[in-house]
Amino acid sequence: MIGIIFGPPGSGKGTQAARLEKEMRIHHLSTGDILRGEVAKGSGLGQEVGRIMAAGDLVPDDLIVDVVRARLPEAEEGAGALLDGFPRTEAQARALDAMLHDEGHKVDFVVALNVPEKLLVDRLLHRAQVEGRTDDTRDVIAERMREYHKLTEAVLDHYRKQGIKISHVEGTGSPDEVFDRVHAALSGISSR
Ligand code: AMP
Repeated sequence: MIGIIFGPPGSGKGTQAARLEKEMRIHHLSTGDILRGEVAKGSGLGQEVGRIMAAGDLVPDDLIVDVVRARLPEAEEGAGALLDGFPRTEAQARALDAMLHDEGHKVDFVVALNVPEKLLVDRLLHRAQVEGRTDDTRDVIAERMREYHKLTEAVLDHYRKQGIKISHVEGTGSPDEVFDRVHAALSGISSR
């Protein structure tokens, strides 16, 4: 099973995906976490993407597609993979479709978290204090939101056009409240 957890920066994708990983034993694959790991290690890839991430821009499609291609087979083992932070452009979505198609797989579900923008910014500024993520400053947050609207939102249309069910979930409230809604949305999908 291949799922995508979708939403703007600060919508709680990572938090919900981590819980789903525990609950559904589905493997949580976060491209942001992978890239931050590479930056922390100072690897060649990390050096290439560090500045782009710090500016709030998206890293090049071919580069991130290679990262996912290298990890997807392992992530798909067992109950399947839940992608968090990927795909973020239509080109990435097409590349993912092609990767899955080669193995006879497809995207099974998309959960899209909806949160008003003002709350997203508040959450990200709060996260900056708690986690110290360098891309959670006001200017960089604004750039990440621009990239989301300009490039990432189109990914939903890509899957809608393919007839893949997109579950829209209200992402406001506590992580527990959101998780209950996500869980309810997914039970609907697995019983179809
Ligand atoms: P995230 O933790 O998902 O918010 O990702 C943090 C940053 O990593 C983003 O702002 C991008 O710079 C980079 N990144 C993560 N995933 C992708 C992706 N699928 N495409 C391009 N850039 C990405």
